[in-house]
Amino acid sequence: MNEYDVLIAGSGVAGLYAALNFAPEVRVLVLSKRELTLCNSFLAQGGIAAVVDKTNDDYRLHIADTLIAGGYKNDLRSLEILVNEGPEDVLRLGKEMGVNFDRDEAQHISMTLEGGHSRRRILHHKDSTGREITQKLLSAAQSKPNIDFLENTYLASLTPADGGFWAGLLMNGEHRYLSCSYCILCTGGIGRVYPYTTNSAIATGDGITLAYELGARIKNLHLVQFHPTAFAAKHGRERFLISEAVRGEGAVLLNCKGERFMQGYDERGELAPRDVVSRCIIKESIRTGSEDFYLDITHRGEEFIRQRFPMIYERCLEEGVDITRDRIPVFPCQHYLMGGIDVNVYGDTTVDRLYAAGECSHTGVHGLNRLASNSLLEALVFARRCTYDISRRMRHEDSGVTATQPPAPSGKRVLAQGHRTAIRRIMQRAWFVTPDYQAVQEGLAEATAIIEKLKGDDYTLTPDYIEAKSIATVCTLLLNEVVEKNNLSK
Ligand SMILES: Cc1cc2nc3c(=O)[nH]c(=O)nc-3n(C[C@H](O)[C@H](O)[C@H](O)COP(=O)(O)OP(=O)(O)OC[C@H]3O[C@@H](n4cnc5c(N)ncnc54)[C@H](O)[C@@H]3O)c2cc1C
Repeated sequence: MNEYDVLIAGSGVAGLYAALNFAPEVRVLVLSKRELTLCNSFLAQGGIAAVVDKTNDDYRLHIADTLIAGGYKNDLRSLEILVNEGPEDVLRLGKEMGVNFDRDEAQHISMTLEGGHSRRRILHHKDSTGREITQKLLSAAQSKPNIDFLENTYLASLTPADGGFWAGLLMNGEHRYLSCSYCILCTGGIGRVYPYTTNSAIATGDGITLAYELGARIKNLHLVQFHPTAFAAKHGRERFLISEAVRGEGAVLLNCKGERFMQGYDERGELAPRDVVSRCIIKESIRTGSEDFYLDITHRGEEFIRQRFPMIYERCLEEGVDITRDRIPVFPCQHYLMGGIDVNVYGDTTVDRLYAAGECSHTGVHGLNRLASNSLLEALVFARRCTYDISRRMRHEDSGVTATQPPAPSGKRVLAQGHRTAIRRIMQRAWFVTPDYQAVQEGLAEATAIIEKLKGDDYTLTPDYIEAKSIATVCTLLLNEVVEKNNLSK
């Protein structure tokens, strides 16, 4: 018998919600490569979009807004599932997991507006919605006897065997295998493939790389979202996000001369979708010859700002900016991945018994560009659907890994520094807000040489090696997609 029925790689919203949806007799192991709360889910600020107020909103409007943001390239079936089923999952968070969504004076859930949404439909917990949801899901999952957790443990490999997988785990420098009947990859995004990102340090595309190595179909990695208003810090890789909700509550975007400019490019102004705002900033930057941009919300007054955006207020203050009086310096950076491991409407990949949910997966709901606050929703809905499909299969399929355990990794060489920096430089030059196709071709050749070296040389399995291989793999797959889609020569 396998040690676990289901192995879930990832303790963000997707991984935790999948774990919680299994029946008590299903043995589940949740892995987190660093501490349990270090993930993008924990960082989500603005909220989660759902049509829960049917007097002022309608499923069709949410679908229409998502289609507009996604350039009508969304998968309509997945999108309908997202919008129709999502409200029940979101309300479950409040009713069953104790998530404390903000309420108005009449105790109705209060909804905010974000760029691209035609209605106020974003449920939120102040400006730290992700932290609230993740913490509550984590406590609920930790209280379940059938769910085990392993922290600081990397899923390093997956080897298919009859009726499941051998999963290679790396924990405190020790390697071991364990067996499982099904695996759900919930490993999050790829932000660390870029030099500047809003993503947490875990976002190195490990799940996408593992799935690719197993032969799974990977789709639309080139669909990367750049957030227009990350705090323009002078140091560090991780850029603190100034949530869309700040513009939703009336903040205006200013150029280096303190002038509003968005209306000149797009009639939706500051509330245009993210890709549009990011592109407008880059165009304005070229026009003015300056990368200095600001968000100004000071006109909303100190009391409102501190009450509505306490985390952003505190975080900016740490950087020396008092947002009740000062303009906030902002600039676009990598934020989200629309593509990923291709899955069907049950999160099933093209590899038997391998599922994926959350940011590492590609359900097609976002089309070319994600509408704000749709990704937590996607993580919930499709994680639950993975659980449903696996539970259904478990009732009539044999499980049990019969093949012999694979040999332990035996590499001898320690990986030198520098590979990640090289990849990040390639990505920023080739595939930032406005692409550079010559840099794509040159970058692909360089990245291919790096990945061949990483795979060919006899390296010891370390966290550094796993992540360097992941970001190099993601970079190569992404650039290769661009080359093929645009008929560029390699
Ligand atoms: C700053 C910021 C603000 C955001 N705001 C919003 C918002 O307001 N609304 C919204 O809808 N979306 C928002 N998003 C996007 C959203 O937060 C993410 O898309 C979503 O949380 C992803 O959840 P996830 O469970 O897929 O991944 P994550 O929450 O990132 O979790 C990934 C997990 O995988 C684990 N992992 C990775 N690799 C391995 C490995 N090799 N072995 C073991 N474990 C591994 C990590 O340790 C982690 O536990 C925001 C994102 C950021 C960065």
